[in-house]
Amino acid sequence: MVERVKKNADAWLDKLKPANSNTRISVGGRPVPPGPQQVLPGAPNNLGLTSDRLRMRMVERVRAQGVDHAAVLGALASVARHRFVDQALASRAYEDGALPIGHGQTISQPWVVARMLAALCEPEIPRKVLEIGTGCGYQAAVMSHVFAQVFTIERVRPLYDMAKARLQDMALRNVQCLFGDGMLGWGAKAPFDAIVVAAAGLSIPQTLLDQLAIGGKLIAPEGDTNQRLIMVTRQSSREWMRVELEAVRFVPLRPGVQT
Ligand code: SAH
Repeated sequence: MVERVKKNADAWLDKLKPANSNTRISVGGRPVPPGPQQVLPGAPNNLGLTSDRLRMRMVERVRAQGVDHAAVLGALASVARHRFVDQALASRAYEDGALPIGHGQTISQPWVVARMLAALCEPEIPRKVLEIGTGCGYQAAVMSHVFAQVFTIERVRPLYDMAKARLQDMALRNVQCLFGDGMLGWGAKAPFDAIVVAAAGLSIPQTLLDQLAIGGKLIAPEGDTNQRLIMVTRQSSREWMRVELEAVRFVPLRPGVQT
């Protein structure tokens, strides 16, 4: 049975292009996995079972795309992604793409969430981690299963309100939310063992680098139309080491707040 599920997942994988975008929204032209589209929205009795199976396949796809960190994959398997998107989109919650969450923003793609968190988890899992760009709260929920303490900042008020309520509903008590400009970080809670930025700026704000503990790591997309993931490790009070990773596409990091 598990083997069959895995084969199905592999079959989808063959059809799907490698994906690494935060903003790409799966619309016409992309192959649609068989079955679940009809089942999820219309059959509430099957919702739990169906979404569990789809989530397992999603995790298998992420693993096949090269992320193989047990704690991160376990967390992806634990978080019901369909609860973070509009009901009308629930049937697409376990596809590879980003999906709209309103206010011009998107829920991060599972692969990119896993990739960034796994990169922060080497050589060991950090304890206290800050996220910039809560959005719908999905990545924060995944993070809550991997890290001891999660702090997350969102600049769009309605998204902040929605994510906060949802995370509270899910009783994820190790997550603290802040409404504000994440480019300023969260000074009162610093230093952080790791920081993950879910929106792309032209450069990484120095304020965030200053809020890293020595030895701490930040991962962020950087750029405008051509974006790359950047990993920065703080080596001393005044030295940071920067490594460029793969190309990605995220929504922009913007200053200030939107009410
Ligand atoms: N982590 C989210 C990704 C949401 S998309 C998820 O799991 O789906 C990125 C989010 O970053 C958007 O909600 C956007 O409003 C937010 N954002 C952009 N600039 C920001 C800033 N300066 N401070 C805080 N949030 C910001």
